[in-house]
Amino acid sequence: MQENSSLRSTISTQSSNCLALESDNRALKMKIERTEDTLIQRETTIETLERQLSESQVLVQELEQRIRYEETIRRRLHNTIQELKGNIRVFCRVRPVSDSPSASRNETTAALIKYPDPEGREIEFAQSIESATGSQTQKTYPFTFDKVFQPASTQDDVFEEISQLVQSALDGYNVCIFAYGQTGSGKTHTMEGPLNADAKSMGMIPRSVLQIYENAKALESKGWEYTMEGQYVEIYNESINDLLGNDGADAPSKKHEIRHGTNGKTTITDITTVVLTSPEKVAALLTKAAHNRSVGSTQMNERSSRSHCVFTLRLSGRNSITEESSEGVLNLIDLAGSERLSQSGATGDRLKETQAINKSLSCLGDVIYAISNKDPHIPYRNSKLTYLLQNSLGGNSKTLMFVNISPLMSNFNETLCSLRFATKVNACTIGTATNKRAVVGKP
Ligand code: ADP
Ligand code: MG
Repeated sequence: MQENSSLRSTISTQSSNCLALESDNRALKMKIERTEDTLIQRETTIETLERQLSESQVLVQELEQRIRYEETIRRRLHNTIQELKGNIRVFCRVRPVSDSPSASRNETTAALIKYPDPEGREIEFAQSIESATGSQTQKTYPFTFDKVFQPASTQDDVFEEISQLVQSALDGYNVCIFAYGQTGSGKTHTMEGPLNADAKSMGMIPRSVLQIYENAKALESKGWEYTMEGQYVEIYNESINDLLGNDGADAPSKKHEIRHGTNGKTTITDITTVVLTSPEKVAALLTKAAHNRSVGSTQMNERSSRSHCVFTLRLSGRNSITEESSEGVLNLIDLAGSERLSQSGATGDRLKETQAINKSLSCLGDVIYAISNKDPHIPYRNSKLTYLLQNSLGGNSKTLMFVNISPLMSNFNETLCSLRFATKVNACTIGTATNKRAVVGKP
């Protein structure tokens, strides 16, 4: 009897245990179902995300392709604009009257200069002429250029106008930018700026290098990769000196020869080439050139006024995605002083120097004139300067000449000569240039 009741109690305990287990089981099942639901939801979300990701990837690819395509169009349009502006351009820059206390009165008397046109293309000199009877008349000398920079113009203003040509060099065109004018008219100030200049007074050479860096970086996202090499030479008495060498420009131990390759590439034998891996390198390069120019010469300014300084940047670009490539050259040339040097009385080295300068500057004018005239023979070989720049003048090139002038009355006659030379150059137009962009690996 007792046993019976104990069994009953066990059964009842067991069945209540069973009930508890069943309820646990149900709870667990529900939990599993909920977890399964969550998993299914997650899978759906992952699928959706994966779909969205692959859609975005396609979109990114399309956009990248469009950017590259638009870069190609940008290059073409940029070039069309440059051609419409003319492949030979002449800018006139008037330097300010020096405010240094050492300047004599004669040196501070400014000529009467007017800038009649609000577009900034005209410059007019006036000169008072006293007639035999003592009456005063005014003779005016008007000139028109692609742009006239007044004395208050900043390096920034000037660079804004030339930065488009720097872009052309990056796009695969050959570009020459000359500074022409008498000694003291501001050629070196325009091209190099003062040594160790701050960002505001930097000249066109360091500014061009900086711009090329920035633009080449921006082009990386479009598949372009660039290398940039710099050379700086001096042409003195028709021979080439390496301004980046270690010998000093006045003690040339090496004779440098100009070679024109069949690929249109010009090289100079035994010359120092600096790979410009950072924009900071250009300041060191200009300092070294200035040091080399001053070695052995009594006065650096005197020497540099009798030689041409040619800074050359070679820009090679390659686009691994579109298989395009480009080879552009940017030449920035600080010419020898254009003042007419009298040969009478000059002897020896001085006579040789004088003849070399007169010859090479007039040869530069002749070459530009012959190109514009489409002459069958272009006299590149008549001077070292034009021979060196042969592949960057004419055909596949863009030329800009700064005519730097002094505002002083005492320089008036030289100023007129410079403006007349520049007017002759300005009247020239070079036929449509083509760039040297090629599709690598394709015919
Ligand atoms: P060049 O190279 O033609 O002989 P420089 O560039 O050496 O002439 O200029 C002669 C002097 O005039 C220098 O002291 C230079 O700093 C100053 N100079 C020239 N152009 C400017 C300018 N635009 N603004 C301020 N100073 C100038
Ligand atoms: Mg100079």
